[in-house]
Amino acid sequence: MNNPRKVVIIGSGPAGFTAAIYAARANLSPLMFIGSQPGGQLMLTTLVENYPGFVEGIDGPPLMELFQKQAARFGTELIQDDVTAVDFRRNPFAVTAREVTVETQTVIIATGASAKLLGLENESRLMGRGVSTCATCDGFFFKDQDVMVVGGGDTAIEEALYLSRLGRKVDVVHRRGTLRASKILQERAFKNPKINFMWNTTVEDILDPAQGKVKSARLRNHKTNTGWEVEVDGIFIAIGHQPNTSLFEGQLDLQPNKYIKVKPGTTQTSVPGVFAAGDVQDYTYRQAVTAAGSGCMAALEAERYLEEHYASH
Ligand code: NAP
Repeated sequence: MNNPRKVVIIGSGPAGFTAAIYAARANLSPLMFIGSQPGGQLMLTTLVENYPGFVEGIDGPPLMELFQKQAARFGTELIQDDVTAVDFRRNPFAVTAREVTVETQTVIIATGASAKLLGLENESRLMGRGVSTCATCDGFFFKDQDVMVVGGGDTAIEEALYLSRLGRKVDVVHRRGTLRASKILQERAFKNPKINFMWNTTVEDILDPAQGKVKSARLRNHKTNTGWEVEVDGIFIAIGHQPNTSLFEGQLDLQPNKYIKVKPGTTQTSVPGVFAAGDVQDYTYRQAVTAAGSGCMAALEAERYLEEHYASH
């Protein structure tokens, strides 16, 4: 095996690329596994209007292309492959993809999280065309329109409250008769005249793929077994996220909800020299700009760690 790398970055959303830009500019020659489908969750978004610096907004995929170009410009080595295994019990650490195993003194994990979806065919067809997994990102496009939120947890209710400030009407469709969301959010939502609840109800289909945009949702109340259709302009799926951490189970301390545990205010994981940035360790803010910020923190912390442990990096 060749000499160990100084920094290996796993994942290629805003956190991973920002870590790469900082690490490359600090002369750490980072190697980045960008995965077989690079770009992270922004690849599923259309217009991004809340990433600073883009006055008119920018679509998610070209934004990620810019991130990647900027990381490459400073010499980040990019490998378009999925990491299949890591070994943090040895030193240097080992990171294995399908065709290579790389040894490295530090690792920055930025594998993100994936929004859970209902699994309907038209849901993926209309993703970014009326179907969204992020009200903060896309709510603005539904000003004075009718929208639907699916789910009954904190995220669903927060999204419904947020959307009620923009939209005309918000239907919350929940599969049970009681919410999982915290009482305070529930009370706020119940008091909100724009929010209407549809209990014990599931979404059976989203229409109309032929028009290339969301026009309605087909629903079913499974207590009464009645089906009906509701006209809506946007559907926000808020049934939870899954952090992409299966690779790290047993090697790093995870939270009960499987997000990576970091020392508060840092990106340090339970293994010194392994850092975690972006949505893989953040279930609160989940924004591109906060992910990018924590990617910067991870690179600076990795640089400091290398200085302390490997005198002349
Ligand atoms: P969550 O608490 O897991 O809730 C997911 C919701 O989606 C549940 O109501 C669940 O229904 C429903 N659901 C799951 N799969 C479904 C499916 N296939 N079809 C229809 N409905 C489905 O997820 P979350 O709301 O994203 O919250 C995640 C964590 O972040 C929680 O710990 C939450 O407290 C925290 N969080 C906190 C805040 C805050 O404090 N302000 C804001 C956001 C999130 P059931 O209820 O029937 O299981």
